[in-house]
Amino acid sequence: MPRMNVVRRVGIMGGTFDPIHHGHLVAASEVADRFALDEVVFVPTGHPWQKADVPVSPAEDRYLMTVIATASNPRFTVSRVDVDRTGPTYTIDTLRDLKKTYGPDTGFYFITGADALERILSWKDADEMFKLAHFVGVTRPGFELSDEHLPADTVSLIEVPAMAISSTACRARVAGGKPVWYLVPDGVVQYIAKRGLYRLSSSE
Ligand code: ATP
Ligand code: MG
Repeated sequence: MPRMNVVRRVGIMGGTFDPIHHGHLVAASEVADRFALDEVVFVPTGHPWQKADVPVSPAEDRYLMTVIATASNPRFTVSRVDVDRTGPTYTIDTLRDLKKTYGPDTGFYFITGADALERILSWKDADEMFKLAHFVGVTRPGFELSDEHLPADTVSLIEVPAMAISSTACRARVAGGKPVWYLVPDGVVQYIAKRGLYRLSSSE
């Protein structure tokens, strides 16, 4: 951990969450347990820069699905920092904003799946990112988890229960009239139906 005298340990789970699914929730829960985190804050992206060329559901829908999915866990919270910032979402801005909110006594653990970790050095201001948080890479079916190219002591790799779920697959299932029950929380299934998300005629 780059900081000393940390009194609060907070995980950060960033994502597009279009929709949030049990892969995200299991990863957050497992990292919270392994690192004795006081809280995990889920941060839905505003305009994800890596997804500029693909249609993404409105930020407010993704934010609300994240609130619904995390509401029952007293240690899970949701932040609007990225949703409320204009322009593309960069993780360095997320970390700077959260640091301002939480103050100097908080140690941050940024959670990423194996696929996101592979690309992390291409993220904006990667060097500074590693100073603001410890990074935790988690296993994800279909991707190799490695910290080979990453700076020493900045990343921990942990194995989490394998959940072969992606938001892309959930969207495709809804578009194809297939169920997403048990892949996403019940309230999220209901929210998707209520808002008509992922039907071929709407966002896809
Ligand atoms: P999409 O298919 O739209 O890219 P996704 O399922 O990859 O969606 P994201 O919102 O892109 O979900 O991912 C947010 C974070 O959660 C990333 O760090 C990603 O690697 C991680 N993640 C997503 N699904 C899983 C999973 N099944 N197991 C472990 N980590 C996951
Ligand atoms: Mg993804």
